[in-house]
Amino acid sequence: MPETAQDCDLLTTAAVALNRHADLLRELGSAFAAAGHELYLVGGSVRDALLNRLSPDLDFTTNARPEQVQQILRRWADAVWDTGIAFGTVGVGKGNHRLEITTFRADRYDQVSRKPQVRYADRLEDDLVRRDFTVNAMAVRITPTGAGEFLDPLGGLAALRAGVLDTPAPPPVSFGDDPLRMLRAARFVSQLGFTVAPRVRAAIEEMASQLARVTPERVAAELDKLLLGADPVAGIDLLVQTGMGDVVLPEVGGMRMAIDEHHQHKDVYQHSLTVLRQAIALEDNGPDLVLRWAALLHDIGKPATRRFEPNGTVTFHHHEVIGAKMVRKRLRALKYSKQMVDDVSQLVYLHLRFHGYGDGKWTDSAVRRYVTDAGPLLPRLHKLVRADCTTRNARRAARLQASYDRLEARIAALAAKEDLERVRPDLDGNQIMQVLGIPPGPQVGEAWRYLKELRLDRGPLTREEATTELLTWWQSRQQA
Ligand code: ATP
Ligand code: MG
Repeated sequence: MPETAQDCDLLTTAAVALNRHADLLRELGSAFAAAGHELYLVGGSVRDALLNRLSPDLDFTTNARPEQVQQILRRWADAVWDTGIAFGTVGVGKGNHRLEITTFRADRYDQVSRKPQVRYADRLEDDLVRRDFTVNAMAVRITPTGAGEFLDPLGGLAALRAGVLDTPAPPPVSFGDDPLRMLRAARFVSQLGFTVAPRVRAAIEEMASQLARVTPERVAAELDKLLLGADPVAGIDLLVQTGMGDVVLPEVGGMRMAIDEHHQHKDVYQHSLTVLRQAIALEDNGPDLVLRWAALLHDIGKPATRRFEPNGTVTFHHHEVIGAKMVRKRLRALKYSKQMVDDVSQLVYLHLRFHGYGDGKWTDSAVRRYVTDAGPLLPRLHKLVRADCTTRNARRAARLQASYDRLEARIAALAAKEDLERVRPDLDGNQIMQVLGIPPGPQVGEAWRYLKELRLDRGPLTREEATTELLTWWQSRQQA
């Protein structure tokens, strides 16, 4: 129960947040009361109401069984989903709301599979203690008059006030029941700006290897939420520091390289976190998952390519090529979509090209290739390359940004002259066949690629020029 003035403020904030959904809560409260059942708002929804970050997706718990919940809401709801019914959850769509209503649970775990034997409980308290963190284990009773009594048997409000993630049960028991909770801790660190209780951190350090029991899809879902949070750097750093990173994302902690005796290169891991932070600062349209993944992973090829040269310098030749391959492997293992794998690895592959050209020495051909190779990723590539400048030397940083400004100006100038977004050969497949008098086949593809290269090198050609070039190529090819 509220102990301090600050608690009263928090509860007022929550009451105001819930009041925005007053009609919905009253309707639900009436429907469950009429059927003789209890209903509580619970979990993330109560936490988020207190933090004034409530979304229209609401979590509820009830003593009604799933079939009864379906019965109670069938007429009222716009849609009812039963995909979670084996775990006691009924999904409900109503207007712009997505509701998850879960029957009180008191699960038994075998400490091996992370698949609980689902058992229903009769009391709210039994349901709350099996939740992941005390800040996620508060409830608000929902009655025919709307949001009512605030229930906090596990001290969630005090933990929320302190910004601390702690488990209801001793952490080793809780994480043994479900190791995913360890990863959720890192996710909440990023999303909420909370820290983990010392005993939680100690248990994670001890038990991180058990994350191997969690399916890649679930790991990826938590990593995405972590990366999309307000402070992903804090979340990633917790992963790496506690050993969770060794299981789910080993390449990131792998960038913590011993600083060489000359201190000639910065720690690549710290650099990557800075780039992530700077990339986020450049976002202009909300959190960008692809950009954030690329920023975090852009240098993962460095440890494998590091060489100490005889002259005392350190090089990382082709780390972008190796890095792009490593990205593919890791993101595929985490079962990301092909699009996601392609996009992140292509950004990593391209992140260094800008530095390959001296100040302002970009030819038109190089600019065309940059734009064509980036394709729809170009706006993100601009952000990634600009974020990838972490030098403390202000003049050097200004020089790099100015140089990138010039590249963007070149792209704009060329785009005004040419349709840079759709660089294609000057003749299409049919025209190629006509000019060369050949039937469809692999030779047409070869000719097409030749003309595309020519188009990238030289810009748009007239039809006559392209025809002449094609015939010359064809003749020299016949002779060879
Ligand atoms: P968000 O919806 O923003 O992802 P959330 O806290 O609501 O955050 P959900 O996955 O929607 O997370 O879960 C709803 C609630 O169910 C949580 O707040 C928590 O009380 C409980 N919960 C979810 N996953 C677990 C878990 N693995 N172990 C124990 N309790 C869990
Ligand atoms: Mg939720």
